[in-house]
Amino acid sequence: MKALDITDLEKRYPNGVEALRSVSLEIEEGEFFGLLGPNGAGKSTLIHCTTGLAQPTGGSIEIFENDAIGHYAEARQAVGLAPQEPNIDWFLTVEETLDYHAGYFGMPRRERRERTEELLETFSLTEKKDERTRTLSGGMKRRLILARAMMHRPRLLILDEPTAGVDVELRLELWHYVQKINQEGTTILLTTHYLEEAEQLCDRIAFIAEGQIVAEGTSEALAERFDVANLEDAYLALVGRGELSRSHIEVTPEVEA
Ligand code: ADP
Repeated sequence: MKALDITDLEKRYPNGVEALRSVSLEIEEGEFFGLLGPNGAGKSTLIHCTTGLAQPTGGSIEIFENDAIGHYAEARQAVGLAPQEPNIDWFLTVEETLDYHAGYFGMPRRERRERTEELLETFSLTEKKDERTRTLSGGMKRRLILARAMMHRPRLLILDEPTAGVDVELRLELWHYVQKINQEGTTILLTTHYLEEAEQLCDRIAFIAEGQIVAEGTSEALAERFDVANLEDAYLALVGRGELSRSHIEVTPEVEA
């Protein structure tokens, strides 16, 4: 079954910007899919259209065969979103944030409590559970956003630049966690600016530029298509900046002791 099936998606903002131009994308259930592209390419717009936050001006979106544009309520249950901008209620505690979210998704109280406890533990937030969210550090906010996205056990998890600005430990923790839940069956759509992250985690990757999908495939296939050694160089070739390839950076000879 397809977790996400986007066909000829168009989004023109009222100011005339064509953020998406006939975008088609299919993600199979269980896949770990990466969406990469430069700033302004249309990634957030695509995610917003998929999660009911923006209204497309054309095309269709199905999430597990439910129409996500006309009947988002049914599709919503299947989707968890960890947005790029932390949209947290700053007056709630960490625990309340998770509990209220699950309540919003209709989870019974007991299950909510168990799930909250489990995710607080998973994301090392247990000690912070009674703190107001506004007092959390940046890394802790990231953890909370991810835990919240997972609360209602979504079948499709959308991660919008989850590792932007996080420290090495949290980045690796997140990698381990998302890989684990993907292996357990959760479909994942990830946007990231870190090419090695996409290379490491994603089964398949699509490059988006100026509102259009311009290439798609495994990282090996993409590298092969652009006749380069890795995904980063394929990306650079695509955006016309091949000269930036790390292979052109000279290794400094070691100074003799
Ligand atoms: P990305 O997430 O890849 O950086 P976006 O989806 O945010 O790209 O933006 C795609 C294009 O749409 C950009 O040209 C951006 O300026 C424009 N855009 C995004 N949001 C709006 C909006 N609310 N109104 C008008 N234009 C927008």
